[in-house]
Amino acid sequence: MSDIIQLLPDHVANQIAAGEVVQRPASVVKELLENSIDAGANTIKLIIKDAGKTLIQVIDNGKGMTVTDARLSFERHATSKIRSAEDLFSINTKGFRGEALASISAIAHVELKTKQDGDELGTLIKIEGSTVKHQDVTVTPKGTSLSVKNLFFNIPARRNFLKSNNVELRHIIDEFHRVALAHPNIAFVMYHNGSESFNLPTSNYRQRVVNIFGGKTNEKLVPVEEETEVLKISGFVGKPEFAKRTKNEQFFFVNDRFIKSAYLNHAINSAYEGLIKDGSYPSYFLNLTVDPKTIDINIHPTKTEIKFDDEHTLYAILRSAVKHSLGQFNIAPVLDFDR
Ligand code: ADP
Ligand code: MG
Repeated sequence: MSDIIQLLPDHVANQIAAGEVVQRPASVVKELLENSIDAGANTIKLIIKDAGKTLIQVIDNGKGMTVTDARLSFERHATSKIRSAEDLFSINTKGFRGEALASISAIAHVELKTKQDGDELGTLIKIEGSTVKHQDVTVTPKGTSLSVKNLFFNIPARRNFLKSNNVELRHIIDEFHRVALAHPNIAFVMYHNGSESFNLPTSNYRQRVVNIFGGKTNEKLVPVEEETEVLKISGFVGKPEFAKRTKNEQFFFVNDRFIKSAYLNHAINSAYEGLIKDGSYPSYFLNLTVDPKTIDINIHPTKTEIKFDDEHTLYAILRSAVKHSLGQFNIAPVLDFDR
């Protein structure tokens, strides 16, 4: 009998990985913005055409790449962010899997321009479906520009599965907001089809929230600050009377990473018990800082879910911190429950 197992060629492996990492244009936006942040940029520009279906471009003023690194960055499991298994327990970058650029370039037309400080010329690389089409030196500012065109050009099923431009743009804006909220010290601009959608200058956290969600947000923000041995909390919760019918102003960040946690969300809701009506949702913009050793962010490729060592303690601290803040601002139960 003959053997039948083969190792898949890289471009096939990359395309499979892309299936997990890249669900839609917004996934590309997230990965590129995160790479710019990891590169130490303090100004990041996002350019979108047709809700990302024709173009997603991110331009940063970060540290850029050498020519060798530029080429390597598209290889699978190629990363500058971790070196050993131990490093997985002390991650303080957004990326570490070395999969994003390999995945994206497997399913789109990608153009990279990058230059490091002090270099006279930068590097230009064009890749289509994991194949390098062109490489040259180029004139470009310090930093990195990565543009992604024709997403899913070689996966018609995925391309056809994309939602309307309105829906895809909404997802992009959500990702943009999450990243921008986690990094008020970085200036962000976003353009869609040639016009400016957001211009967020470097600011403090309150100003960033207000810049994104509008001037009226300011009066409803109640600060939350707490520091214990295991957890530091900072940010804002909304005054109960401003509770919304939607959950679109609910943000948790853990070590500057947007995460979803039904459990921690429950901790907040329970702090509002008796203060807001059923069916309305408090706003919150909360940053939790924990020792990276006490969380596992490697449970899903998109890293929006994480595992905490001690969820119960975090729940209790969070709930009491929020209650305390609401109490300090003399927010007494004002609502009659007309049940
Ligand atoms: P990861 O972010 O998990 O390391 P990526 O595939 O997203 O994997 O990126 C691969 C590598 O390419 C990064 O580790 C980094 O060294 C480099 N890189 C990617 N984007 C940028 C950028 N905007 N500026 C500088 N280096 C970058
Ligand atoms: Mg990355």
